[in-house]
Amino acid sequence: MGSPLTPAQLPGTPGSHVKIVWPKIGKPLTLLCLSRTWVGLWSHWMDGRSHPCLKPNGCPGCEHEKGNTHWAAYLACWDKLLASKCVLMLPKDTVSGSLVLRDPTADLRGAELSCERLGGRPGGPVSCKIRPSVVVVPNDAEEPDTLALLCKIWSVMFPRTFRPFTLAEGEVA
Ligand SMILES: [Zn+2]
Repeated sequence: MGSPLTPAQLPGTPGSHVKIVWPKIGKPLTLLCLSRTWVGLWSHWMDGRSHPCLKPNGCPGCEHEKGNTHWAAYLACWDKLLASKCVLMLPKDTVSGSLVLRDPTADLRGAELSCERLGGRPGGPVSCKIRPSVVVVPNDAEEPDTLALLCKIWSVMFPRTFRPFTLAEGEVA
């Protein structure tokens, strides 16, 4: 077990500084997980940024079949290097290839996630090594609302505009 997080590191009100992060080529990420489990969402990559899929409501991404549509899992994390919260995005293959991430009873809160882009190309597979209970997150510390953080990042309303999808639902577009 590691040392407890200090109050400044604990999740609070979603802030506009929170970003979606993922490992890029040659830049592995090591993050502390604040979420107990991931949230799965469809998104469209359009105009140089990601947009949540808004189906079954009107969704510009679906209607125009623009950009790259993909399912990913999102976890609220703590970046020790930047001393800030972030939302880690993991591709479907990373989740479906991990016993821990596939286990609905696994509690990832306080675990260290070491993620790396393999294959030397932007769309290459992402590995995610999980070391459980690296840090003690106090029981009374609120778990960050990953969907609320994403809504802030994407500037969309929740819950009317989009909903999470399970890994099985991630299999069908
Ligand atoms: Zn859509």
